[in-house]
Amino acid sequence: MKYLRELIEIYDLLYDRYGPQHWWPGETRDEIIIGAILTQNTNWKNAEKAIENLKHKNLLTLTALRNAEIKKIAQCIRPSGYYNQKAARLKEIAKYFYSKDLQSFDAHSTAKMRKELLALKGIGPETADSILLYAFEKPVFVIDAYTKRIFQRLGFFPENISYDEAQKFFMKNIRENPQLFNEFHALLVHHAKEYCQKIPYCAKCVLLKKCKFEKKNNDLKKKQ
Ligand code: SF4
Repeated sequence: MKYLRELIEIYDLLYDRYGPQHWWPGETRDEIIIGAILTQNTNWKNAEKAIENLKHKNLLTLTALRNAEIKKIAQCIRPSGYYNQKAARLKEIAKYFYSKDLQSFDAHSTAKMRKELLALKGIGPETADSILLYAFEKPVFVIDAYTKRIFQRLGFFPENISYDEAQKFFMKNIRENPQLFNEFHALLVHHAKEYCQKIPYCAKCVLLKKCKFEKKNNDLKKKQ
């Protein structure tokens, strides 16, 4: 755990700045799984509108989705974009979970379920890991573009780091703890939206002293 201390310092700075994030939004496990599909390639606001529509039509459970006509689902989830593909994904994931005995889902089967989720059409690592972490509280660290951006700028990640390498970095360096993984990722998303945007606002960033971004930029400018 070479970077444990540094990661905990970063976590503490973000937590002190932003406080608890209360992720993931969703009252039930089914809602979290459905939300993880709906938020693909869109923002949470659009996913939320689709969730509201599903709720209104009594389709906000995996059982209801499994039994519903795909056209009806697609109609409800239009606001989330890619609604035909997402409707098919929802059907597929509803079918998948229907065949599972979730009561016996333990740590031993996390890797197996991840593999099975990844084998479903349209489910990538970020969606699979979001489902495992947020719906099942399994200790998997979720990586997204925000996480990569911040850790590249802080100097931990190379430019083209893969999803798996980035995930390994966190899982090798912090104790497996779903609550910590959940909060850490949520804080990173908050930070990327508020300060570490594409063009970052570094002057008031709580991570400024730890960050290599400005130094790297200044070095580049000097070379030009
Ligand atoms: S100092 Fe700037 S680049 Fe570095 S983490 Fe903060 S906002 Fe991002």
